[in-house]
Amino acid sequence: MNAQGTQLSLFETRSSNDPFAVRVSPRARRLTARVHVGGRVEIVVPVGVNAKTVRDFVQRFTPWIDRKVAAMQCHADASTDVPRCIEFAYTHERFDVDWHPASKRGIARQGERLVVRAPDDGGARLMLQGWLKRAAAERLAPPLLRLANELNYPVARVALRCQRTRWGSCSTRGTVSLNCSLLFLRPEVVRYLFVHELAHTRHMNHSASFWRLVELLEPEYRSLDRELLAGWRTVPAWVFKK
Ligand SMILES: [Zn+2]
Repeated sequence: MNAQGTQLSLFETRSSNDPFAVRVSPRARRLTARVHVGGRVEIVVPVGVNAKTVRDFVQRFTPWIDRKVAAMQCHADASTDVPRCIEFAYTHERFDVDWHPASKRGIARQGERLVVRAPDDGGARLMLQGWLKRAAAERLAPPLLRLANELNYPVARVALRCQRTRWGSCSTRGTVSLNCSLLFLRPEVVRYLFVHELAHTRHMNHSASFWRLVELLEPEYRSLDRELLAGWRTVPAWVFKK
């Protein structure tokens, strides 16, 4: 019943180039995987758990760990002025950003790479912000219109906005505005926002009847609404930086 019984070296190899650290914790009740900013993986192990159990655990959670590592790597870059990668939780897409200092501005997608040309970091962000808006229009407007059609709720127009103010809105004329940064949220949360805005085409307020309608369309709306509200924290800083 001690750490030596686990026979684990401090670093093992998850795959050829992604090592993870194992930490035996007397306080841990079960195995947990933690992914730190920058992508470092730590497996926290209760005392007395053997190496095979740890390896099985890591193997079982490898897809989750890989996704989390990818997200955290992008996250670390968010503190710099121009991101080195962009990840959309909504579509599970990931793009590597190649920024080439050049006097003439431009942005082009080459498969999973975004090639950005701009003379300075402000210019590069401007290119990326413009691309994000177009990417959001392509990915968010069609599913919103499909859902509106399915539910038979009238939507006259979909507009994309990229401010740090609200996730969406609905006008009396039937224009639904969506925030570009919805791309950084899970599809379930985005669908809830769609449902929320579509319900506003029937009730232009947050009355009890509005919420009853939302609940009818999305029974899990309470937890999804909380996740949506907390979602601003997952939006990388470059999105809003001038
Ligand atoms: Zn509302």
